[in-house]
Amino acid sequence: IISAEQINKHFDDLHVLKDVSLDVHEGEVICIIGPSGSGKSTFLRCINQLEVTTDGIIRVMGEIVGYREDGDKLHRLSDRKIAAQRSRVGMVFQRFNLFPHKTVLENILEGPVFVQKRNKEQVKKEALEILKKVGLSNKANSYPNSLSGGQQQRVAIARTLAMKPDAILFDEPTSALDPELVGEVLAVMKELANSGMTMIVVTHEIGFCREVADKVVFMESGEIVAVESPENMLTNPTHARLKEFVSAVL
Ligand code: ATP
Ligand code: MG
Repeated sequence: IISAEQINKHFDDLHVLKDVSLDVHEGEVICIIGPSGSGKSTFLRCINQLEVTTDGIIRVMGEIVGYREDGDKLHRLSDRKIAAQRSRVGMVFQRFNLFPHKTVLENILEGPVFVQKRNKEQVKKEALEILKKVGLSNKANSYPNSLSGGQQQRVAIARTLAMKPDAILFDEPTSALDPELVGEVLAVMKELANSGMTMIVVTHEIGFCREVADKVVFMESGEIVAVESPENMLTNPTHARLKEFVSAVL
């Protein structure tokens, strides 16, 4: 349901993504690993149109993101249409970016009610269900700064789920957390994966990759240099650099 075809991205004369192609099928979990600066975040940001690709085509649910097809020409969509497309792909960041002056519940309602214009009472019911799923039923009326980092990240995941996204992109969702809080967030993500959510996860949590990923993508210097099953990544990586990388982060 997500496909990237020969994506290139330049920041001025810096060539950050080089012919990156990836297909993600419904219900798949793809983990992306790779050294700092290899373009992992930029790739996710391109899928979600927080960055504009220099060339190449990304499709989500069969629709080209950012453009309308007209014969063999592409026309840039309006900002409003791009925002609508973006709201169908959730994104969870390293930093949770919750609104500090809104309660947990208000944070979750924001997108569905004000962006998607859905019925507030209905959304509220769903939001409480989602809070139950992420283990935060008792925090609906709390403010973000009264929560731990792990709880805040679970609220961020709940907020994304409330938008009913077709897929969710995670950019190092646990790397800003104290080590003892990482597990609770990974557990929620694992459950989400088991429930059939399509996910692309940039992470250095090799254990999570091994347990949850359908495929592990290794990026280096803006390229996808290896796509492996999680088993092979650990036991028999075909790519020398991947082998080095995995043993360094383990
Ligand atoms: P990390 O593991 O540190 O998060 P990453 O793999 O996510 O790294 P990116 O953040 O995608 O890497 O960055 C890839 C390259 O693009 C880096 O060289 C970075 O400095 C550069 N870059 C990213 N965003 C911008 C920007 N807005 N303007 C200019 N250069 C950028
Ligand atoms: Mg990054």
